[in-house]
Amino acid sequence: ERSKLKRLKTARSQTIDGIDVQLFANIELPGDVPIALEAGAEGVGLFRTEFLFLDRGDMPDEREQYEAYKKVVKGMAGRPVTIRTFDLGNDKDIRPDSIVNDRVKTNPALGRRAIRLSLAEPRMFQTQLRAILRASKYGPIKLLIPMLAHAHEIDQTLAALEQAKSSLRGEKVTFDENIQVGGMIEIPAAALAVGLFLRRLDFLSIGTNDLIQYTLAIDRSDEQVANLYDPLHPAVLMLLAHTLSSAEKVGVPVSVCGEMAGDPNLTRLLLGMGLRIFSMHPSQVLEVKNRVLKSDVSELTPNVRRMLRLDEPGKLREALDKLNG
Ligand code: PEP
Ligand code: MG
Repeated sequence: ERSKLKRLKTARSQTIDGIDVQLFANIELPGDVPIALEAGAEGVGLFRTEFLFLDRGDMPDEREQYEAYKKVVKGMAGRPVTIRTFDLGNDKDIRPDSIVNDRVKTNPALGRRAIRLSLAEPRMFQTQLRAILRASKYGPIKLLIPMLAHAHEIDQTLAALEQAKSSLRGEKVTFDENIQVGGMIEIPAAALAVGLFLRRLDFLSIGTNDLIQYTLAIDRSDEQVANLYDPLHPAVLMLLAHTLSSAEKVGVPVSVCGEMAGDPNLTRLLLGMGLRIFSMHPSQVLEVKNRVLKSDVSELTPNVRRMLRLDEPGKLREALDKLNG
């Protein structure tokens, strides 16, 4: 079975009715690049840069970060690389002496994590933005911002990026002036008020892991409630569908980079909702491609539309089985 899948590596990722579907890899460290390429990924859809930070107390300095980002971009050899700024402060394993740890409170998932921490630590943020910009001269980099909820967070982020750009210009350092900036949709408020994201950003990426956690009030790392963590909860599907259709209307590209994107049982559902860009653990790329190759979007779309009107979980599951059958 595995070797059969391997043969799909070079196959064009396209549905039966000729719709191209982009399959990207999620990576954690530069060392994951060969694995992403081996899986046939068309690019990196999510580089979780906080992994550069874990298991150490100090901050990787600008040079160290720049080297890491450059290594990924060069390794991907012209394929797009989406670099997410640090998503620190929540469930990522942070050493007790690290800079962020003393600020983590009793409810870290709702606390100063991700972009909230970056905006509260301007020096840390500038260092990262400068390192990413400097690496952007080696290939197509996109910048991705985690955990946005407010318009002013986007505006502040864009101002911070402008500041980093202008400091580099002052030093005559070259970088991609037109670097694309995207935001993660992983807080229900962001999915519901997606218009304010669409107006300010170049692309969106839906983080279903957190979106499910916050929509259902289920701690994603708490095994005692893991049975209640349900990607098919009608409310989750409504938020996904709303985000996808709103983005489509204004022509803003949107991907899904949470675990849902790598689950072959959800590939058809997501295709039918309009998703065309998937980013996942490299181990899932070929399986998802296999599903894409066997799917007909023109046939799926009306079925999924009907399915999304169901809000009875049993019926939803039945409809999903039929879709996959
Ligand atoms: C997500 O929340 O779905 C996501 C992709 O980011 P992370 O899992 O790193 O929080
Ligand atoms: Mg997340």
